Amino acid sequence: MRARAFGGGGPAVPVVGQGTWDVPTSGAARDDAVRALREGIELGMVHVDTAEMYGNGRAEEVVGEAIAGLPRERLFLVSKVLPENATFEGTQRACERSLRRMGTDYLDCYLLHWRGAHPLEGTMRALERLVDDGKIRSLGVSNFDVADLEEAAGLVRSHPIACNQVLYNLTERGIERRVLPYCARNGIALVGYSPFGQGGFPSPASAGGRALAAIAARHDDGPYAVALAFLVRLAGTFAIPKAARPAHVRENARGAALTLAERDLADLEAAFPLPATDGPLATA
Ligand code: NAP
Repeated sequence: MRARAFGGGGPAVPVVGQGTWDVPTSGAARDDAVRALREGIELGMVHVDTAEMYGNGRAEEVVGEAIAGLPRERLFLVSKVLPENATFEGTQRACERSLRRMGTDYLDCYLLHWRGAHPLEGTMRALERLVDDGKIRSLGVSNFDVADLEEAAGLVRSHPIACNQVLYNLTERGIERRVLPYCARNGIALVGYSPFGQGGFPSPASAGGRALAAIAARHDDGPYAVALAFLVRLAGTFAIPKAARPAHVRENARGAALTLAERDLADLEAAFPLPATDGPLATA
């Protein structure tokens, strides 16, 4: 699968990974979710994104089951600390809990989920300590606009901010105006979450949906694959769709391999234009 450096000097990571928000955490649906994640990993979507928030830790356990027995070095595991836990001590304790639930010794990247009331300084110091202790390979943030990124960058001493995870999909392209250029200049991976709008994907009857269908037909693929190909077209970008159904997982993996032609890109730009002005950072 197509991969690129995760932040400045980071390891090569496939451009399309897998999300786990709202993943079923009980019953037969949980088993299906484990199988879907595993199939995605086999198809190369080894970047698995989770958080202590998702299912109150149960999504991390689902990930733990999906990765059990797999060679750890093949995987790129990411989790996030809740802002309410993100003190210097609390961040480290939260990370330990996540590691236990996932059944792993380290995370490839660990993020502050969004900025909360605790001073950023303690969180960033804790994240750096976790890198020094070998609990995480890199640190990052989520839902950070440029001012927050600048502040966080000023607080880290020896480990750079590897990633900023933000909302990015066809109808939410605001990050391309300000946040993505900042990340690109500073070697920060831009991981786009909710690439399909969390169930709000353009309907086939809409103008955007028709444009997607026409492009998909030209590539003999599906509209979700086209959307993913568009969202990872720019340097430094990654996407983490969540899919519980095997057919969805397979289409998403194909999206990473799909190269859009100039004409496709022009049609998507017309159907899903970049906002004309800067607005506040959009979040889910
Ligand atoms: P999403 O990935 O935009 O959409 C998920 C929905 O799309 C599910 O209903 C899924 O259905 C469907 N889907 C997936 N692939 C499909 C395909 N090929 N064809 C048709 N439908 C498809 O939503 P999301 O879960 O909000 O975002 C992805 C991940 O980003 C999350 O799981 C989470 O890890 C992360 N995230 C982070 C934040 C943050 O604040 N940092 C916020 C939100 C999300 P099935 O499940 O039925 O297959």
